[in-house]
Amino acid sequence: MFASAIIAAGGRGTRFGADLPKQLIDFGGATILERAVETFVRARCVDEIIVALPSDLTTNPPAYLRGRSKPLHIVAGGARRQDSVANAFERVAAAADVVIVHDAARPFASQALVQRIVDAAREAGAAIAALPAHDTVKQAVFASRAGDGVLVERTLPRERIFLAQTPQAFHRDVLQAAIEVGRETGGDATDEATLVERAGYQVRLVPGERQNVKITTVDDWNMALAAAGSVPPFLTRIGTGYDLHRLVEERPLILAGVSIPAPKGSLGHSDGDVVCHSLTDALLGAAALGDIGRHFPDTDDRWRGAPGLDLLARAVELVLAAGFVVGNVDAVVILERPKLAGYLPDICANLARTLGIEPAAVSVKGKTNEGLGDIGQGDAIAAHAVAVLTRARWKQNPL
Ligand code: MG
Repeated sequence: MFASAIIAAGGRGTRFGADLPKQLIDFGGATILERAVETFVRARCVDEIIVALPSDLTTNPPAYLRGRSKPLHIVAGGARRQDSVANAFERVAAAADVVIVHDAARPFASQALVQRIVDAAREAGAAIAALPAHDTVKQAVFASRAGDGVLVERTLPRERIFLAQTPQAFHRDVLQAAIEVGRETGGDATDEATLVERAGYQVRLVPGERQNVKITTVDDWNMALAAAGSVPPFLTRIGTGYDLHRLVEERPLILAGVSIPAPKGSLGHSDGDVVCHSLTDALLGAAALGDIGRHFPDTDDRWRGAPGLDLLARAVELVLAAGFVVGNVDAVVILERPKLAGYLPDICANLARTLGIEPAAVSVKGKTNEGLGDIGQGDAIAAHAVAVLTRARWKQNPL
């Protein structure tokens, strides 16, 4: 017994919006194709693997397709799915009695499923993974009158509806016959079983797997990872910041660009905006990009005296350039007087605008120091801040 696995990765589908075909986008350290291939490398019932790649990639295939523990051949895909499978079939070893076909866009099929499909195909000649429909199934008709939309034509008996997946496996001669049917017909077959049925063979349904989804959108990927209990697709980074300024007379008190009537204001080269300065450090810290002194030294004329909101805006640019998006921020301002409550809505609105996030993701709280120490005596103002950044785990952002 010898089973060959054909992995159809010849598609140029770029519905993810990236330049690369979606099966070659790196998600969390591995591409969809790599994960799909890995299943067949590990499956004990599989003796060789043939991957149909987009033709321009066959001369310089990804490294994970080389030097594997079982024979792995690379062939050029064709215009249609069935053409890619036909090209791959020509490389199938003479010894093979069963040939498996699998979509590269299904990275979560288990080795157990591969085994079940191969066993069933050896017995029945043709077997595919499929799931029973759990939703009620409607057959639709597209309304002839514009504006009427899509209408239900009838309700199909759900207990007889199954949704086909891959892997699908066939006796070698059965797939050979199907490939000939596929060559002769002009249409696009969306799976090999369709052609096998047309060639006159019966196809056995074998229970598929819920997690064995076909990755078509970023949402599919996120849901599939969650269902598989795998690593989350997003990195989360948290940063903290702190700032303190002396308070002196005849200086303005500015927090997040809002001027606050007060007997004393922050002393410093800049506007001494402790909210912006602590948040700037929190953002830079979350991205491990250093601190405010490194990026905005007061010896540099560009930043000398720059408003805090400008520094914060620049820090946002830096973290975005590093591939992050700002999640939320939270800050505490420690100031003896005046009370800040009335100014917090304006402070938060300025921050939300500068950070480019919704107001609900921005929080600033006021606190006194209970009369203790320099802050309590009204001689200083301080702020603590935290910022959360997220970044997709894929190295090349497909969006
Ligand atoms: Mg400062």
